[in-house]
Amino acid sequence: MNEATHRCGYVALIGRPNVGKSTLLNALVGQKVSITSPKPQTTRHRIVGILGGPGFQAVFLDTPGLHARQHRGLNRAMNRAALGSLAEADLLLLVVDATRWTQEDEAALERVRQSEKPVVLIVNKCDKVKPREKLLPTLERLSALHAFDAVVPLSALKGDNVERLKDVIAPLLPEGEAIYAEDQVTDRSVRFLAAEIVREKLTRVLQEELPYGISVEIERWEEEDNRLLVGAVIWVEREGQRKIVIGEGGQRLKEVGQAARLDINDMLERRVHLELWVKVRENWADNEAALRQFGYDPS
Ligand code: GDP
Ligand code: MG
Repeated sequence: MNEATHRCGYVALIGRPNVGKSTLLNALVGQKVSITSPKPQTTRHRIVGILGGPGFQAVFLDTPGLHARQHRGLNRAMNRAALGSLAEADLLLLVVDATRWTQEDEAALERVRQSEKPVVLIVNKCDKVKPREKLLPTLERLSALHAFDAVVPLSALKGDNVERLKDVIAPLLPEGEAIYAEDQVTDRSVRFLAAEIVREKLTRVLQEELPYGISVEIERWEEEDNRLLVGAVIWVEREGQRKIVIGEGGQRLKEVGQAARLDINDMLERRVHLELWVKVRENWADNEAALRQFGYDPS
């Protein structure tokens, strides 16, 4: 690459839910900007992470998975977000799981083919391939699916080969000046990230009992006696769900609050007082006005 050439572009992570897109984004950007969890569909917003290196800047769009079923407003909005980032991107990273190929992977591959954009195939979760000799035939089979610009096997979780991916991405970006300041990791506000942290803790503590359509909104963000007071509302759809989130004697909500506060402290590098409320909003997932209030465009 010419020394004077600077490259900058938008990079979209495409792939079915649970292949490890959020984990990869975190590994690349080196800071927690997108929540990960063992459950699919945890990423709803298009989160932008920024990776800077010598002579390049890659702006990442973390997409929610594309969902087959579209009958609820929320899923429609999620699909639109995923398709939107695909159209915006200069480079696509198609993420697949080395141990599993499904119909949803096939659908993601089809979208990538139709876009006619440069695409890197990322074969993630290579650490799970046992015995290791199985990896090569898997890579050969996957490489043959499309004229990929590159194929990178890696483990986002362990960080194996993530550095190599950075070297592969840079020359595939278009020429251009940096879009964001170098020290900026995300253009999402820290409030949004705080809400994402609360939602991640809810996902971990509630696991299978996590209500569909749960959402977190930051209502207060105020300086108070040398500390930051953060007030967050956890929105659920029904009274029964409110009880589940709060837990016996408030135990669960307390657990969520403590874990979230520690992460928010770390993120902001300062002392934070976090207050959580759980409120009921009837059927908000179907309510377009409410969706917009949460940052979705459901139209
Ligand atoms: P997304 O839905 O595509 O964003 O997937 P996530 O990043 O949320 O990851 C889904 C699950 O796969 C989580 O439990 C991750 O810890 C796990 N995971 C992601 N990358 C790897 C990997 O390289 N190896 C292994 N063993 N697990 C991974
Ligand atoms: Mg995700």
